[in-house]
Amino acid sequence: MLPLFPELEAISSCRDRSALNQILLRAFAHLLGEDADVALFRRDQGETGLTQCVGPTVMSAAFGAWDGLLRASLVPNLLKSEVQDGRAYGVIPLHSSEVSSAKTLIAFAADEKLLRRHEDNLLCVARVYGNHVKLLDYSELDSLTRLLNRKTFEETFERLLQAGNTEELDEDMVERRSNEDGVAWLCVIDIDHFKRINDNFGHLFGDEVLLRMGDLMRKSFRSGDRLFRFGGEEFVVILNADNESLAQRGFDRFRQAVESNEFPQVGKETCSIGFTRVSDSDIPTDVVGRADEALYYAKENGRNQVRCYEALLAEGMVSGPAVVEAPVADFDIDALFD
Ligand code: GH3
Ligand code: MG
Ligand code: MG
Repeated sequence: MLPLFPELEAISSCRDRSALNQILLRAFAHLLGEDADVALFRRDQGETGLTQCVGPTVMSAAFGAWDGLLRASLVPNLLKSEVQDGRAYGVIPLHSSEVSSAKTLIAFAADEKLLRRHEDNLLCVARVYGNHVKLLDYSELDSLTRLLNRKTFEETFERLLQAGNTEELDEDMVERRSNEDGVAWLCVIDIDHFKRINDNFGHLFGDEVLLRMGDLMRKSFRSGDRLFRFGGEEFVVILNADNESLAQRGFDRFRQAVESNEFPQVGKETCSIGFTRVSDSDIPTDVVGRADEALYYAKENGRNQVRCYEALLAEGMVSGPAVVEAPVADFDIDALFD
């Protein structure tokens, strides 16, 4: 079997983006030999950060030799390289997912001869990876807003909770958790009086508002936050924040961005938001149910506001989860037929 076949098969069957990055690193390391350093970088708003890496001297390359190459490289699937002291350093910008605005680049350092010999193979693996990312985007993103679709919600939600329950965090998760600390919060966003937009301006202008809402979400939330179009004019966001007031502030910043935005033709619009804390034992329907209750309260009490389920519960404004009565232990079924 050709040496790369197992990795190519693994790429084509992988649906977890973080695991996919690990497979890519492995494939490059496999080609470039034992002493190769391979690393993935994210470039977001001018900042470049290391996300995942393998190799014995990867850190010195990361903060030295790759620096200039990383800043110079922008064109996807184009390899740029240079030689320093007999060791070759290269960077290939990858086709990046639309899930966030961040760009992904793969950098590597290896024996010069090995790198030259495998240049075409490295580019081929990078393109296979990019094509697979396109397929994942196609199946996981909503075609109108380019936010994650509802089908993806359950999977992402479960992965998020698994990360909280096990020690086997992937490096992407470790980075996100240590950077942002805190727990996960989920909000449901619903556009206020959306029917009026359709009624007054037509469905196409309604769709245009949905599209702009997606853009505003991408601008208002951070690249590690998970943004979903949940249904018609409803959206879901999962983010990490230290406490309730920081989460409230994050969601309110988005509410204000919507309020102050001028939608083409349609003008000013507002949205209401309900949010809740996500606990380790939560199941998706319960979390969304709680956020929905807080959203309902926001709708009933003036719209254009952000409400927290836990705060409403503490104030007695919403009823808590229904208590399921325990079955009677010594229930005698025969007695029913006497
Ligand atoms: P509220 O403030 O109570 O949320 O009022 P609302 O008018 O927004 O009420 P509701 O959320 O119940 O209505 C949602 C409407 O959104 C109903 C449907 O006509 C419209 N809608 C759902 N999906 C789409 C879509 O994909 N495109 C467009 N243009 N409209 C949609
Ligand atoms: Mg609605
Ligand atoms: Mg609505």
